[in-house]
Amino acid sequence: MTTTMSEKDITIVNNYINGEIIPPAGGDYLDVQDPSNSSVIGRVALSTSDDVDRAVRAAHAAFPSWSALTTKARAGIMLSFHSLVKSHAAELASLIVMENGKNMTEALADVAKGNETVEYACSLPQLMQGRIDAVSTDVTCRDRRDPLGVVVSIVPFNFPFMVPHWTLPIALVSGNTVVLKPSEKVPLTMYRVVKLFEMAGFPKGVINLVNGTKESVTSLIDHPLCRAVTFVGSSPIAKFVSDRCRALDKRCTALGGAKNHLIALPDCDVESTASDVVVSYAGCAGQRCMAASVLLLVDDGKGTDAQQKTLLRRVIEKASEIERGTEPGKMGPVIDGHSLNKIVGYIERSERWGAEILLDGRSWIGDDGGNWIGPTIILHHDRSDSAMNEEVFGPVLSVYRVGSWQEAIDIENSNPFGNAAAIYTTNGGHAEWFVKRVRASMLGINVGIPVPREPFSFGGLYGTKSKYGDMDITGDGAIEFFTNRIKITSKWPAPCVPEYVVGLAKKQKMDTVVDHANFAGTM
Ligand code: NAD
Repeated sequence: MTTTMSEKDITIVNNYINGEIIPPAGGDYLDVQDPSNSSVIGRVALSTSDDVDRAVRAAHAAFPSWSALTTKARAGIMLSFHSLVKSHAAELASLIVMENGKNMTEALADVAKGNETVEYACSLPQLMQGRIDAVSTDVTCRDRRDPLGVVVSIVPFNFPFMVPHWTLPIALVSGNTVVLKPSEKVPLTMYRVVKLFEMAGFPKGVINLVNGTKESVTSLIDHPLCRAVTFVGSSPIAKFVSDRCRALDKRCTALGGAKNHLIALPDCDVESTASDVVVSYAGCAGQRCMAASVLLLVDDGKGTDAQQKTLLRRVIEKASEIERGTEPGKMGPVIDGHSLNKIVGYIERSERWGAEILLDGRSWIGDDGGNWIGPTIILHHDRSDSAMNEEVFGPVLSVYRVGSWQEAIDIENSNPFGNAAAIYTTNGGHAEWFVKRVRASMLGINVGIPVPREPFSFGGLYGTKSKYGDMDITGDGAIEFFTNRIKITSKWPAPCVPEYVVGLAKKQKMDTVVDHANFAGTM
C-alpha cells in the first residue's frame, strides 16, 4: 500500500545556480520517495548539459573574487554557516529521516558529523599556511596554496548532510567554488542547506546545486571549466568517474564501496564486543560504507569454542532486540525497493549455499510500501558464498568461523575493497599483530566503525575497489587535494643597499642601520 502526499506538500527540488532557484532546462523531474512508506515527498530536477553549463559558468565567474579573499575572511563566513547548521539541526535531521529513513538519532549525528568538517575548515587560516626556508646562501624558498577553481562534488544517498560536507567546507575555505550534485534519492536536505549557506553570507555563484542522474554527472565531469571532482558512491560508478577524469587530466578522488571485516579473538570482551558488532552492522540499516559486513570468529582450538559461541549468542540476542521504526534507537528502512530486493537476493542465495540464517530480517517485510528488512545474521559454511564476498549494503551480518589468526588475515586481505577492518581483543600485543598485517585503509581496535576524525583524512585503500584516485577526502588530505602548492624561490644577494644610502648612513654614524640593511637585503 503506497500513500502519496497532497500535491501542495510535495517539495519541488530545482537547481540552485548563482543564488537563484532555477527549474531544469528540459522540464523533467523524478519522484522522491519516503523509504518508510514509499509516499512521494518530492520531485527532483533531472538536469541536462545546459543546466550543468549554467552552473559551472556561475561557479567560474564567482571564482576570481572569492579566491581573492583572505582565507581568514572565507573562514569567517564558514563560521557563520557552522552556527546556522547548529540552530537548524533538528529541521535538517527531520528532512534526513523523511527522505533517507534513518532514525532521528542517526539523522542528528549525520548533521553533527558533517559540521565537524566545517569546524576543521574554519581552522584553515592556521592549518593552510605556507612554509619558508633558507635553501642556499641568500636564497629562500617559500610556498603558498592556491585553490584549483571550480570543484565538482557527486555524492551518494546514505549520508545526505555529512558526505557533501566531506567536500564543501574545505574546498570553499581554501578558495574554490563548487557545484554539488546530490543523490537524486535524497535531494531535499542539501536543497535546504544551500539556503543556509546563502544566509551565512556566501556570495552568489560560490556554491551551486545541480540535481539529476547520469547525464548531469557526465556533463559535470566533461565541462572544460571543471578542474577537479570528488565522488563518493558505489565502486563501479567510482571507477567510471575516476577513469573519465583521468582521461581529461582532471584531479579526482573517487571513493567506492566496501566489505568490512570484524575479527573477534577468543580473548575479546564478550559483552562490549557483541554490542559494538551489532551497532556496526545494523546502525543506519547497514547502509554505511564503514559498516561491519563479515564477523570472523577466531577459534584457535584451545578450548575457545564455547567462548565464541557465547559471543555469537549475545550478538543474536542484541540484534533481535532492535525494533522497526525511525524513532531514536529503532532501525529504519533501506533506501528503496531495488535495494531491498538486492538484500533479500543475497539471503536467499546464502540459503541455497547451505548457510544457516540465525536471524531472519525478512520477517519485517510488510505491505505498507516501506522498504523494511530487519537485522539478519547468516552463519556461512562456505567462504565462496556471494554474501561473504560482495557488498550487500543492508543490515546483514555474515558470520564465519576460522581456525587461526592467519586464516582471519587471509580472508580479510583477499577481499577486493580494503576499506575498513577491526579487531576485538583485550590484549594489546594481539591487536598490534593484526593492525600490522590487515590490508585495509581504516583500522579499528575494539572500534567497529573506525572513522578517522579530523585532522586525519578519510578514504579507502588506493588500488582497491574502495578508492580510485590517490588522495583522501577530509582532514589534511583534503587540503592537499583542493589546492596547488605554488613554490617561490627568491634571491636577494647582499650587499644590495644602494650606495647613496650607505654613504648617508656613514655620514650620520648610523652603522647599525647599514649593517641591518645589508643583512636583511631588503633595500
Ligand atoms: P551510487 O554509486 O549509485 O550513486 C552515487 C552518485 O552517483 C549519485 O549522485 C548518483 O546520482 C550518481 N550515479 C549513479 N549512477 C550513475 C551512473 N551510471 N553514471 C554517473 N553517475 C551515476 O551510490 P549510492 O547507491 O547512492 O550509495 C551507496 C554506495 O556508496 C555504496 O556502495 C557505499 O559503499 C558507497 N559509499 C562509499 C563511501 C566511502 O567513503 N567509500 C561513503 C558512502 C557511501
